[in-house]
Amino acid sequence: MINVIVAGPRGKMGSAALDMIEGEDNLQLVGCIDRKNDQSRVKDIEGLPPFEAKIYEDAEQCLKETDADVLIDLTTPEFGYKHTKASLEHGVRPVVGTTGFTEEQLQEVTKLSEEKKLGAVIAPNFATGAVLMMQFAKWAAKHFPDVEIIEKHHDQKLDAPSGTAVKTAQLIKEERERKSQGHPEEKETIEGARGADIDGMKIHSMRLPGLVAHQEVVFGGDGQTLTIQHDSMNRASFMSGVKLSCEKVMELDTLVYGLEHLLE
Ligand code: NAP
Repeated sequence: MINVIVAGPRGKMGSAALDMIEGEDNLQLVGCIDRKNDQSRVKDIEGLPPFEAKIYEDAEQCLKETDADVLIDLTTPEFGYKHTKASLEHGVRPVVGTTGFTEEQLQEVTKLSEEKKLGAVIAPNFATGAVLMMQFAKWAAKHFPDVEIIEKHHDQKLDAPSGTAVKTAQLIKEERERKSQGHPEEKETIEGARGADIDGMKIHSMRLPGLVAHQEVVFGGDGQTLTIQHDSMNRASFMSGVKLSCEKVMELDTLVYGLEHLLE
C-alpha cells in the first residue's frame, strides 16, 4: 500500500486525483494540503469523495503527522515548489504535476532529491498520449527543422507557455540545429505576434473557456506540412500517469523529469 498526500484537493486536477485514489487498491489517502478547511475530514467537504483523511493548511504539519510515502502536488507554481522541497525534507517522495517551476527551482529540487537519495517525479504532462506526441515530435524534428508549437488551454491556467510546450521544444532542440525561423527581416507590427521563442522555434499560447489541454506541433517542409496533435478532453486523461508515477517513484532514488522516462 502506498500512503499518499494530495496538495490541492479542491482543484480540477486534485479532485480528479482523489477520484482516482478512491478507485485504486494500492493507494491510500492519508492527508490533504489545502488553503481552506484546516483539520476537517475530506468527506465533510462538499463535492469531495468520502475519505476519512484530514485536511491541513500547514504543509509541514501534514508531512509530520501523516505516515505518507508520496505527496502528489497539483497546486500553483509558488506552492508546488514549497511543497516539493518540504516533502523531500520530510522523507516523502514528491509526484508533481504542478507546472511553471523555474529552471533554478528545478535544479534545486533535483539537488535536494540527490542529497536525500529520495525519488521524485515532476511531469509537466501526465497524459500518456501527450508524452507520445512529444516523442513523435522529437522524431519528426530530425527530418523537419522548421516547427511551431500551438498550445491551447482553459483560461484559468496561470503559466504560459505550458510546461508541455516548453518540454516539447526542449526535446526538439536535442535533434535540431539552432535555426531562426521565418523571414530574416520579419518584424512584429504588434508585439508578441510571432509568439514566444525557444532556440528559434515559436510557441503560441491560446487561453479559452471550454478548452482543457491541447497541443499541435506543426512542422513545415518543401511543399508539405506535418501536424502532430494531442487533446486531453478531461482531467481523467492525466490520472493513469499520476498512478504510474506514485508506483514508480517508490523505486527511484533521484528526481525524474517527464513521464516518458517512466514509460520506457
Ligand atoms: P486549479 O483548479 O486552480 O487547482 C489548484 C488548486 O490548488 C486550487 O484548489 C487552489 O485553491 C489550490 N491551492 C492554491 N494554493 C494552495 C496552497 N498553498 N496549498 C494547497 N492548495 C493550494 O488548477 P488545476 O487545473 O487543477 O491545475 C493545478 C496544477 O496542475 C497547475 O499548475 C496546472 O498547470 C497543472 N496541470 C498539470 C497537468 C499535468 O499533466 N502535469 C495537467 C493539468 C494541469 P484555491 O481554489 O483556493 O485557489
